[in-house]
Amino acid sequence: QVSDLDNFLQPSAFSRLPASFYTHLQPTPLPQPYAIAVSTPVAAQFNLDPALLLTPRYVEAFTGNCNIPGANPLASVYSGHQFGAWAGQLGDGRAILLGDAIDKHQQRFEVQLKGAGPTPYSRSGDGRAVLRSSIRELLCSEAMQALGIPTSRALAITGSDQGVMRETVETSAVVTRLAPSFIRFGSFEHWYYNNHPDELKILADFVIRHHYPEALEQPNPYQAFLSTVTQKTAELIASWQSVGFMHGVMNTDNMSILGLTLDYGPFGFMEKYDERHICNHTDQQGRYSYRMQPTIGHWNTHALGQALLPLIGSVEDTQLALDCYSPSFTNKWEALLRKKLGLLTIQNDDKELTDQLFNIMQENHADFTHTFRYLSHLENHVSSKDDDFISIFSNSQAAIDWLELYRARLVSEGSKAKERQSRMQASNPKYVLRNYLAQIAIEKAQNKDFSEVQKLLTILEHPFDEQPEHHLYSDEPPTWAQHLEISCSS
Ligand code: AMP
Ligand code: MG
Ligand code: MG
Repeated sequence: QVSDLDNFLQPSAFSRLPASFYTHLQPTPLPQPYAIAVSTPVAAQFNLDPALLLTPRYVEAFTGNCNIPGANPLASVYSGHQFGAWAGQLGDGRAILLGDAIDKHQQRFEVQLKGAGPTPYSRSGDGRAVLRSSIRELLCSEAMQALGIPTSRALAITGSDQGVMRETVETSAVVTRLAPSFIRFGSFEHWYYNNHPDELKILADFVIRHHYPEALEQPNPYQAFLSTVTQKTAELIASWQSVGFMHGVMNTDNMSILGLTLDYGPFGFMEKYDERHICNHTDQQGRYSYRMQPTIGHWNTHALGQALLPLIGSVEDTQLALDCYSPSFTNKWEALLRKKLGLLTIQNDDKELTDQLFNIMQENHADFTHTFRYLSHLENHVSSKDDDFISIFSNSQAAIDWLELYRARLVSEGSKAKERQSRMQASNPKYVLRNYLAQIAIEKAQNKDFSEVQKLLTILEHPFDEQPEHHLYSDEPPTWAQHLEISCSS
């Protein structure tokens, strides 16, 4: 049963919070909007016909040019720590929450338009998003979903030729994005640092009631809430590490209270492995480098813990809730690594085996995705299928030596090659959103050819499938794209 726009939205649960949490406002229209891309899985999830999404009424609606029945648009306030320093008030500077949509599993999602014009929280910003960053957000949120990593979703992008000033003049776009909640760690810090204990409690009670009701059964629900958020955050970052995803701007205002990947900006997927890699070229200190992400996740949960302290009651109880970060991260990371290596048992020397793999990846700057994908094709005995794996390492002997250790480990658990290969291929993607793939799609879109965005979206919906006809999309970057720099400007 296909629903249409008239039944898509209802006023958000968030809009029933007191007025101090947000400002009601309308999106600012953009001239002559056009459709750019649609995520078919998201459309299907909400019983929307993807073909209808390309028609003028829908394009106008998802650009913010006309009202959608049931919408009750607002922008919410939050604060946060940016690059480790208290940044004071931020908020939805260019995102407008239209309302809630219920999916076909009866799950409630907030629907936002990102880039729909200025709000009282825009500070010096123009409230707009450029085509480039909107395409990256759509592609990456859908790619992460397909990789099985918790994320906000994107339904569609529309565009307009209205210019927006960044490093150069670019054109505008609007992303329709969805998540069960867009509330961030910074939403709590806002009330804590402004000394509003009543609002702090109202917000915590709201999030617990809607998203963490099991915490209500615990002796200290606020402590249980913090503990679950801490665990989810640790597990999220372990899953980022497992595919080489770097967020780029892990400020507390970009940390989801539901443990979702949120606010896609200068993110990147690791190509030539370097644990110190920094994907955001404005992050000169490398605070958000690949190897720092787990530590920063921990730091961010402490910032949330500080904000929840008045509700939890004592430093000791707050610390207890935060203590689950390291074990949660390690358990998840080790479980993911076992899956990536196709191991079914746990053995004493496993950490040494994986440490050695990361050491040779580091020394040889091996492509992250290829390393694990090629490993997934390995036979139990030495064969010509070793060659792909070995060829990624400039020091072939290091790869050959490691394979010998790995094979001994496989033998020790009586690993069956066929089953192991298919398990490994289901957890080591062939296709990730490499920066150059996004860049090619962006440049075509800037010339009004949107077909590559849609094509890439479709390929990334099945990252674990061989898709032999799209084999080129698994290649390492061509020379022109090896040093693409992605900035915060979006
Ligand atoms: P970010 O680090 O991209 O998550 O952005 C930090 C804050 O700046 C958030 O509150 C955003 O809403 C706001 N912001 C970023 N870009 C713009 C823009 N072009 N116009 C208005 N606000 C913006
Ligand atoms: Mg943000
Ligand atoms: Mg942003």
